[in-house]
Amino acid sequence: MSDAVLNILNISKSFGALKASDDVTLDVRAGEIHALIGPNGAGKSTLIAQIAGKLKPDTGKIDLLGMDVTRMSIAERANLGLGRTFQISELAMAYTVLENVMLGALGKRGGAFRFFKPVMKDAELRERAESAIERVGLSQHMNKVTSELSHGQRRQLEVAVALTLEPKIFLMDEPMAGMGAEGSKMLTSFLDELRGQAPILLVEHDMDAVFALADRISVLVYGKVIATGSVDYIRNHDEVRRAYLGE
Ligand code: ADP
Ligand code: MG
Repeated sequence: MSDAVLNILNISKSFGALKASDDVTLDVRAGEIHALIGPNGAGKSTLIAQIAGKLKPDTGKIDLLGMDVTRMSIAERANLGLGRTFQISELAMAYTVLENVMLGALGKRGGAFRFFKPVMKDAELRERAESAIERVGLSQHMNKVTSELSHGQRRQLEVAVALTLEPKIFLMDEPMAGMGAEGSKMLTSFLDELRGQAPILLVEHDMDAVFALADRISVLVYGKVIATGSVDYIRNHDEVRRAYLGE
């Protein structure tokens, strides 16, 4: 527990009669990719939204880097080092790759913090943006308008936007969705390297990617974590195979 960067403790969240999170407890530790899998509607995105601060849990507690962030805003969590990419893209389609990443880097100074912290210098901002774009392999598309990028390239761009904030942990909701084989492969090797810089809570349907990357896997079914463990443990878990792997 001591090396946990993120601790989710007994989180529950209902939408009317539906329990989308049902007493969820899990942690994300330094250096790891913790994959969160489960059928459609299991509550994966709802859980991510609560960690990010978009939704408030009904009960339970979320600790980030040893701080209770349960009642903190999205901006406050981002400032503490929570990076994220979304299932639904939040990129500005009419802007270039570089512009999107620079806007993202400015985002850290947004919200309540805008008036208290000096804005980054233009040169620093640009440098940071360019280095993030390079890291995800989009350098040759720096000045392309985002709407002209392939689906896979947009996913890479979302990661670059998140990287500019130098996150201490990443939340990623289905980063491989809609990607071709080549894009998935590239993102897989990138995430493999990224975990050393910041651990990742990875929601992903692509089981090849999950089994290749995950240090641990948690399985969510009807809002409940039914199992957490290594790839081998999860692959051989009877209830998981029945509930999710379709065996
Ligand atoms: P997953 O990401 O695992 O596919 P979600 O977290 O998106 O699942 O959804 C979990 C359940 O909660 C689903 O039944 C979904 O319809 C429901 N749900 C999600 N968001 C809302 C909301 N804002 N209002 C009502 N129901 C919701
Ligand atoms: Mg989802």
